[in-house]
Amino acid sequence: MRSGMIAQGPEVAAFEKEFAEKMVAGRTSVAVNSGTSGLHLGLLAAGIGPGDEVIVPSFTFAATGNSVALAGASPVFADIDPRTFNLDPASVRAAITPRTKAVMPVHLYGQAANMSAFTSLAEEFGIAVFEDAAQAHGSTWMGQPVGTFGSFGVFSLYPTKNMTSGEGGMVSCVDEIAHGVRLLRNQGMEKQYANEVVGFNARMTDIHAAIGRVQLTKLEAWTKTRQENAAILDANLHGVVTPYVDPSATHVYHQYTILVDDDRDGFQRALREEYNVGSGAYYPIPNHRLASLAPYAPGLDLPNTEVAARSVLSLPVHPSLTQDDLERIVAGVNATAKAGA
Ligand SMILES: *Cc1c(COP(=O)(O)O)cnc(C)c1O
Repeated sequence: MRSGMIAQGPEVAAFEKEFAEKMVAGRTSVAVNSGTSGLHLGLLAAGIGPGDEVIVPSFTFAATGNSVALAGASPVFADIDPRTFNLDPASVRAAITPRTKAVMPVHLYGQAANMSAFTSLAEEFGIAVFEDAAQAHGSTWMGQPVGTFGSFGVFSLYPTKNMTSGEGGMVSCVDEIAHGVRLLRNQGMEKQYANEVVGFNARMTDIHAAIGRVQLTKLEAWTKTRQENAAILDANLHGVVTPYVDPSATHVYHQYTILVDDDRDGFQRALREEYNVGSGAYYPIPNHRLASLAPYAPGLDLPNTEVAARSVLSLPVHPSLTQDDLERIVAGVNATAKAGA
């Protein structure tokens, strides 16, 4: 604050450079004011617009489909693999039409989606790959970091995500797209008052970037703690389905998500009331049935998405959990599962 530079300035430039080096080596990172802006601007910079279709999961936060709709294109919802909750390549293949321009998998809960399958589908059909990596900072598919597969990938820096800048997003881009995102975030100009296109104000502030830079130095240790917490839960939970991790993927446990066979909401209530364990259902309504996005998906049925939406429950896995917390979570979940069985 004392520097006198508060809006986008040297802190943003430093954050972009450090983020690119650490998270998506070889790509350019462009900072914006939210993950949603990042997806929206990435799509526009990639030339997505009216008449185009982009295939996305329905089992995700609404920002994924919203960004496609905001770009003027149509989100086309495909089903998920019931084990990983990530987009199912077979369902994506079935959803491809002559208007399909891209597939945009989400690395849901922090586990990388099957990028080998989406990359080869994209080659086969001549479409692009974009990544919604909002929940997956540092996750990998076959050793390659998420955010480096598609022509762009977006990380959210919202406070609930694995690292934060207060609000913010980081777009990992191939060079052709980076220039477009930089233009669109700043009224269409890179050089002041030489506006090249019609753009937005989607800039990150130096204050937010300064927070993000410090968070970035802590991410690796936090991720390791999340993974250790997840391993403890994996080893000790009984009577529920614990997260499946694809052997080609790493999981950074933005969420630790179990499946509860019946009465998920009752399970959640019992955990809270009897064991003081908070939990969350992400996401209870599939995007293709939301009032906002349903018009894009008339009559669509996604059976695996429906099962997940009514059965998933995310338990605390964050790096500040104590040994006592973990023991309470294990005891609560095991007792509640047993009582329900
Ligand atoms: C959080 C999130 C976003 C949006 O990020 P914001 O920074 O909140 O705008 C997009 N997609 C997914 C999957 C998310 O979880």
